[in-house]
Amino acid sequence: MITVRGYECARVGVLGLGRSGLAAARSLASGGAIPICWDDGEAARNAAAAEGFAIEDLTKDKAWADTILLVVSPGVSHLFPKSHPAITAARRAGALVDNDVSLFFRSLAMTDAEVKVICITGSNGKSTTTALIDHILASCGKPRQMGGNIGRGVLDLDPVADGEFVVLELSSYQLDLARALQPDIAVFLNLSPDHLDRHGGEGGYFAAKRRLFELGAPDHSIIGVDDDFGQFLATATQDPAGESALTKIATTQKMKGDDRSVFMNKNHLTEWKGKQIAAFDMRQAPNLQGKHNHQNACAAWAVARAVNLGPKLIQNALISFPGLPHRMESVGEANGVTYVNDSKATNADAAEKALLTYENIHWIAGGVAKAGGIEPLLPLMDRVTKTYLIGEATDEFAFQLGDHPFEACGDLSAAIAKAAANAKEGDVILLSPACASFDQFPSFEARGDAFRDAALKLIEAA
Ligand code: ADP
Repeated sequence: MITVRGYECARVGVLGLGRSGLAAARSLASGGAIPICWDDGEAARNAAAAEGFAIEDLTKDKAWADTILLVVSPGVSHLFPKSHPAITAARRAGALVDNDVSLFFRSLAMTDAEVKVICITGSNGKSTTTALIDHILASCGKPRQMGGNIGRGVLDLDPVADGEFVVLELSSYQLDLARALQPDIAVFLNLSPDHLDRHGGEGGYFAAKRRLFELGAPDHSIIGVDDDFGQFLATATQDPAGESALTKIATTQKMKGDDRSVFMNKNHLTEWKGKQIAAFDMRQAPNLQGKHNHQNACAAWAVARAVNLGPKLIQNALISFPGLPHRMESVGEANGVTYVNDSKATNADAAEKALLTYENIHWIAGGVAKAGGIEPLLPLMDRVTKTYLIGEATDEFAFQLGDHPFEACGDLSAAIAKAAANAKEGDVILLSPACASFDQFPSFEARGDAFRDAALKLIEAA
């Protein structure tokens, strides 16, 4: 746990008592502050009370008479569509509204430890890139910790040690809330319309992500320029005084300039600085397939080079990266048929990435459909031998598929059995449902685990 100092004996409000809120309360208490906790849900309040924390209704003005700070969880509505009433009450009383990420940076500034903090944001690929950077550092024998939106919350990390790297995945909600951001290296991957409901549209969403670069003023910025937002951000971040470095990354264009860049040249990840510095054939990295993963790999490569790791070591780490569970996770092979678990693909956009990566696909899709269903995926049906439909979305998807071959299977285990019976050598059985899981599973993780278990049984029996 990170001890938060600087608030000794002060009352500090903690709003939202999930994992990160409780961690914040513990970290504050450990530094001598008095956390005052609130959550709209009674069960969450009871859990905090059971740990001995004071509970007060922070939406009431009287709670704010001598409370100087409010620490807000990322799940709480902050700026849009409207502020949570506890935030409004805190502001009315002149208290500062902040979050755990900010407390982490403030605490870090109070220690003497030399630590390099690497922060990753973007609409897609944050977790993969964060885990990949962590894996590269580990493979190169560097002491490091990983957290934020992945794994442990920032204040749940171990006390930082001299010479350590901290790799943090940060969502737009976390960036919007944090009053202090001091990354040494900041990564922006991409931006696509997502979560716009909480940011008041694309403008607010981009503004949140940009804070990491404007307020954060990193020594080194690594920016994906495949989309317009990234191009804008890269230009805005260029520093004529040369005090901070910028590495642009791209999968859609070659960037052969004098400044360092990392881009894809056909299958080769290429590092350029006036001339080609390194090139690596991404076909050697089994768990970083697909254009989207090439973007993640370019970003992680740029980070690793920014901390002076050598190309050969980085290449080996890309090859050995195990990937994250449920994201195009290769489960194994039986009779020449590969099983791929992409349960995290809960919408058509994510499923498209997997369908573009493989051919001769036996595609398992369905669950709770998102608006538009699988309509955008129909142009990819020449890569799909047959679709196996499951769950609530069956009728809608069957209608959308029209003449493309499909079978209604009911549930996941029937779908795998049917796909396994039909698949031939060289085929891929892919769970990439383009749907939420809640009609048949508690979470996308549980759905992916069920697919993996069934696939492993078939592989063992083969
Ligand atoms: P995040 O943490 O940003 O949600 P993940 O790394 O967990 O991202 O990947 C989630 C899904 O997003 C993957 O299964 C894949 O379909 C898609 N994805 C991953 N990386 C990218 C990328 N760089 N660009 C677009 N989509 C991506």
